[in-house]
Amino acid sequence: MIYLDYNATTPLRPVALAAMLPWLGVPANPFSQHTPGRAAAAAVDRARGQVAAMAGWRREGVYFTSGATEANTTVLSRGRWLVSAVEHPSVLVWGADFLAVDVEGQLLLPPIAVAGALDGYTGVSVMLANNETGVIAPIAELAALTRRAGVLLHVDASQAPGRIPLLVDADFVTLSSHKFGGPQGVGALLVRPGLTPEPLLRGGPQERGQRAGTHNVAGVVGMGAAAAAISGTVHPYLRDRLEHALIDLGGRVAGGGAERIPNTTCVGFDRIDAADLVMALDLEGVAVSAGSACSSGSPEPSHVLRAMGFSGSAVRFSLGAGTTEAEVDIAAAAVGRVLQRVT
Ligand code: PLP
Repeated sequence: MIYLDYNATTPLRPVALAAMLPWLGVPANPFSQHTPGRAAAAAVDRARGQVAAMAGWRREGVYFTSGATEANTTVLSRGRWLVSAVEHPSVLVWGADFLAVDVEGQLLLPPIAVAGALDGYTGVSVMLANNETGVIAPIAELAALTRRAGVLLHVDASQAPGRIPLLVDADFVTLSSHKFGGPQGVGALLVRPGLTPEPLLRGGPQERGQRAGTHNVAGVVGMGAAAAAISGTVHPYLRDRLEHALIDLGGRVAGGGAERIPNTTCVGFDRIDAADLVMALDLEGVAVSAGSACSSGSPEPSHVLRAMGFSGSAVRFSLGAGTTEAEVDIAAAAVGRVLQRVT
């Protein structure tokens, strides 16, 4: 199987697996006072430092969670948030109002640059890189606007690590381990010094009282190891090679005119619905995702594509460190065969 769905989840990096294995077989509760407990606490602390180093953040501001969904919920479930119309559903559900994007999926900032436009909001939440189209948001400009308005800025950066440098000027940043070679079920909320979001999970003293519940020690250690292993970014060459081949086959790229992370292309074909193309490619041995949600068996364009005014549905091809030139060529040829069959 050729795996081109890295934005859904990435394979566990061998270095992360190796770091995790010892913690799966030992009784390791970081809040136990005995030797194994203290060793577990030290391992969690080391991982906190690794995640902080990757994000350019202070380690005291790194709080481990069960993933990006929990990190997003911790911040956004309180207060009144303006969120972009193309957010991940775990952010979208908390939006009081929605910030529009243009046809390329780029945020329309002028409406919130007007004095008083952010009055009454707790803050603004915008993802750094869109998981469907890869379009990158202008976080520095947003940070200037939110700071001037005196409201908070939350950035879901789940799709950034390993794709683009992760230097985010925000009050809260969300990370998800399994998007960058760590295990699933672990993430982090980065909190600017001086801020303390109200805990979502209360009870025990873990994460300095900010997130109760025994740590997933192996998971946290794996996330730290994956964070430490990130070097550089994915080169856009393979994505561009694939994208050009798909355009030659009649594909239309969603957000193709915007600045994007270098591993993602989201392409629609007039001749075939995205959900059907995903299934046909699966039979051809190529794993990709539709930028569409299926409700009662009828495929609908995703909220992201609808917000962009993109006509029809689209398939997301997302590449990773392990992707080869041969793989993208085989994938493009498979799309060509499928399209030939439907004409
Ligand atoms: N935010 C974005 C941008 C994502 O792409 C995802 C993954 O699907 C999530 C949040 C949810 O991440 P997790 O699976 O860690 O809850």
